[in-house]
Formats: sequence, C-alpha cells, structure tokens
Amino acid sequence: MIPAPFEYVRAGSVDEAIAALGSRDDAKLLAGGHSLLPAMRLRVARPSTLIDIGRLTDLSYVRDDGDTIAIGALTRHHDVAGSEALQTGCPVVAHAASQIGDPQVRHMGTIGGSVAHGDPAGDMPSVLLALDASFVAKGPGGERTIEAGAFFTSLFETALAADEVLTEIKVPKTAAGWSFMKFNRRMQDWAMVGVTAIRMNGGVNVGLTNMGFTPLRAAGVEEAVAGGADPTTAARRADEGTAPPSDAFASAEYRRELVKVLTKRALEEAMA
Ligand code: FAD
Repeated sequence: MIPAPFEYVRAGSVDEAIAALGSRDDAKLLAGGHSLLPAMRLRVARPSTLIDIGRLTDLSYVRDDGDTIAIGALTRHHDVAGSEALQTGCPVVAHAASQIGDPQVRHMGTIGGSVAHGDPAGDMPSVLLALDASFVAKGPGGERTIEAGAFFTSLFETALAADEVLTEIKVPKTAAGWSFMKFNRRMQDWAMVGVTAIRMNGGVNVGLTNMGFTPLRAAGVEEAVAGGADPTTAARRADEGTAPPSDAFASAEYRRELVKVLTKRALEEAMA
C-alpha cells in the first residue's frame, strides 16, 4: 500500500529534531526507516510529519568509556556488528546485531530505532534488557538517563516522551560468558523466540524476545540459577510470567515449549 500523506523535515541537529517534534502534532523521527516505513505503508502508522535524523552522523559511534561502552543511537546494525570495541568488550551486542535481518536491513537500520520502536520481537531490545543497559534521551528540558528495566512499557510503547530523541545506549563491559539463541525458519527472519543469557554480577541475566508485550527478563530462571539449579532445571521456569503471541509462525503453546529448550541451551553455552 501507499502511505498516507505526510510532511517531510530534515533535521540538521538533535536540537532541531527536538524543536520540530515539539512544534507538530503526531510527528515521528525517521532513522533507518526499516520499521517505520513498512508500518506507514500498511497505514498502521500515519504520522503527520517525518523528521529525518538519518544524516546526523555525530550520533553514529561506538566509544569505550571505561567500564561501559557508549553507542550512538544512529549507529547502523552493520557498524555495531563490526565494532572492535563491542566485539572485545561486550560481544553479545555485536553478535546480536550481526543476526538482524539481512545485509540491507543491517546497513540501514539503527540501534536507536530498534530500541525506540519497542517491538517485543526485535533482537536488540531483549539483549539490552539482559545487559541492564541504559538509554540517554534528550528533550526540551535537557538530557535524562532511563534504565532498560523501566524503558519498555508496553507493545511498541517506551518511556520516551513524544518530544524526546534517544541519543545514546550505554552497555556494561562484560565478556565472561554469553549466549544469543535466535530461533527462526529462515536466516533473515525475525525470531520466533529469542533467548539471551549473560553471565554478570555473579549470576546469569536472561532476556526473552517475542514472549510477551515487551522484551522480558526470565526472572524465574535467573532466581533458579542463583539458587544453584542446573540449566535443565532452571530452564523449566523460562515461560513464567510470559504472554507469548500466537501467529502464523507458531502458537503460544509452541513458544512456551521452545523458550524452555532455547533457555537450556543458552544457559549451558553461557556457563560453559
Ligand atoms: P525507524 O524505522 O526509522 O524508526 C522506528 C521507530 O523508532 C519510529 O517510531 C521512529 O520515530 C523511532 N525512532 C527512531 N530513531 C529514534 C531515536 N533516535 N529517538 C527516538 N525515536 C526514534 N529487526 C530485528 O530486531 N530483527 C530482525 O530479524 C529484523 N528483520 C527485519 C527484516 C526486514 C525485511 C525489515 C524491513 C526490518 C527488520 N528488522 C529486524 C527491523 C530493523 O532492525 C529496523 O531497522 C529497526 O527495528 C528500526 O530501526 P530504524 O533505524 O530503521 O528505525
């Protein structure tokens, strides 16, 4: 289908983008366009104005900040995947980025767009949730930092205000042991279910993709591992507190079983 009519504005800076968001109703930022434009073509999104931030190259970087790595929101998936700082300091993020879609998607889509879109089927949100990442947002009142645990509020909803721009993602350096399990039918497809396990702070953090209205943490699994359970036993709790969808690819019941299988494999790999 063809999108509904809209105005187009190209922002020359983050401040220009914030001002443009504040002066128009129903305006939306355009980053890589690989989630927003398909939604507009289906007319499930009908923004009055697109504010193009895709050329703000100062928001495209990966920087070693000591204990953390800072990733600019406009960094393309391809550049996240290829970043030496991430491959060394937080390899799960680089690896997850390399598994998103196909080369075209990875060259256009941005990490900030993936996060701001708030799609529970997206790969990066649950990885960042498992990492206890934090997100820097800038609005008319200045900058604030939002922890990943408070960021994803509902289906395609986040804690970002309508006039805020996500500018940076901060991830802790952690390379102790990790696993990223993405189950799909074809290489370039979205995850039917995804599980990320990361050894951190003496335990294992577990993030789930496509198991509810938001990316989720498998709290029951984390608790079981902290209590000394082996991967097989801990993984039996992987569907606790989830509400997986039923769709053309899999039923909710199938996803509940699949998440247990993937969690067991992910725990074994991360703890090996
Ligand atoms: P856009 O589409 O430009 O924007 C998405 C939303 O975020 C919009 O509402 C926009 O206003 C908002 N936004 C963007 N940037 C900011 C910002 N800096 N601050 C505030 N709001 C912002 N993703 C996966 O995770 N796994 C996959 O396997 C996968 N496969 C795909 C296959 C295809 C064929 C396509 C088209 C997409 C696929 N994607 C997949 C989605 C892809 O990763 C998108 O690039 C990503 O979800 C959104 O990033 P974007 O830069 O394209 O954002």
